[in-house]
Amino acid sequence: MFCNQCEQTAHGTGCVDTGVCGKDPDMQSLQEILLYGLKGMASYAHHARRLGMTDENVSAFIEEALFATVTNVNFDMDSLFEMVLECGRQNLRVMELLDAGHAKCFGKASPATVYEGTKAGPGILVTGHDMLDLEDILKQTEGTGVNVYTHGEMLPAHMYPELRKYKHLAGHFGGAWQKQKKEFAEFTGAVVATTNCILIPREEYKDRLFTTRATAVPGAKRITSNDFSALIECAKQCAPLPDAPVKETTVGFHHGVILSLAGEIVEAVKAGKLKHFYLIGGCDGAEPGRNYFSEFAANTPKDTIVLTLGCGKYRIRDNDFGTIELGAAGAIPRLLDMGQCNDAYGAIQVAVALSKAFDCGVNDLPLTIVLSWFEQKAVAVLLTLLALDVKGIRIGPNPPAFVSPNVFKILQDKYDLKLTSTKDPMTDLKETLSV
Ligand code: SF4
Repeated sequence: MFCNQCEQTAHGTGCVDTGVCGKDPDMQSLQEILLYGLKGMASYAHHARRLGMTDENVSAFIEEALFATVTNVNFDMDSLFEMVLECGRQNLRVMELLDAGHAKCFGKASPATVYEGTKAGPGILVTGHDMLDLEDILKQTEGTGVNVYTHGEMLPAHMYPELRKYKHLAGHFGGAWQKQKKEFAEFTGAVVATTNCILIPREEYKDRLFTTRATAVPGAKRITSNDFSALIECAKQCAPLPDAPVKETTVGFHHGVILSLAGEIVEAVKAGKLKHFYLIGGCDGAEPGRNYFSEFAANTPKDTIVLTLGCGKYRIRDNDFGTIELGAAGAIPRLLDMGQCNDAYGAIQVAVALSKAFDCGVNDLPLTIVLSWFEQKAVAVLLTLLALDVKGIRIGPNPPAFVSPNVFKILQDKYDLKLTSTKDPMTDLKETLSV
């Protein structure tokens, strides 16, 4: 289908009714930013809806904003830019709903020690973001002798009491999504992908790969209901897993946990014992340049705290960050894993609470945000931070291809958005400590 105006390009891919396609890449860029932000937000909204959490205003905004991306509807830079920011505001609401939905369904999050590796016997590996699927699988495997493991973004499930109460939630296996081809081949049991960040499977494991609902890949079996009997049957038929412990880690520094330490944190900052907070996380990926995040995190000084979330955490969590003394609270880990990428909501709550405690704006806090981006959810989270007027965010490894140079310049001028690829991590790190 081609544009009526110039008949040169498909609708919505460049024509802005100027008579010549591609004449206004900035408008196209804003429409694409909006579209990607909406996609990320819709993923979160879908999870929240499954947990019984919805907001009619969000649904209405999604419709209106999608309409604004229809060819010839909105080619006004200012109103489109405002809609992009509104997408960020609405995404904050969606992340809030998801946070509340997780708490309502799975209990109050708290720190938990997680066994990483496998245990002897049949097993199911659950990857993706949908914890309701995980709960259904745990319920249906109870008493069957099949162990259940988390993978990738499902790791934060261990922080919820109503999920970790299942003794056969045996642990966690593997890292970020881009390593799945190797890891799913190594994991000899059944594997189920509950959301995006699933790759076209290799021959060697596609027979034991399942997906749920919207998630589907060629060769895998798609489960469209809450009945996981085919997955469980497959796990029983697969080669049993070995007893192979790898390590133990601590997860579960939900914003509720961190805010319960607010008094001690404020005291430590005032006493000069805690100098800076870093939020390093987001979506991981395979491109070169992502060692920026590992190097940056590994070199953060001992009197700082590193918050992390999303699968970007796998870039940094193998480093030994040690602990930091927080007065009456004692020693806590310097690296605090807050959860999934949507738990950026929690990081925002922490930042807002600290700014109130110090009677300053979020931009005046000793806080640096280093965001790795890969897919649409990271775009939605970035828009939320910009809509909250958070300045000086570092994103990387590269600028998203759909952000035109002019639009990126606007974001740099307005929000002091910085690219991780323009400097080396040590220079950037020093810069954050000099302010
Ligand atoms: S954090 Fe982003 S890249 Fe990682 S699994 Fe979640 S959506 Fe995918």
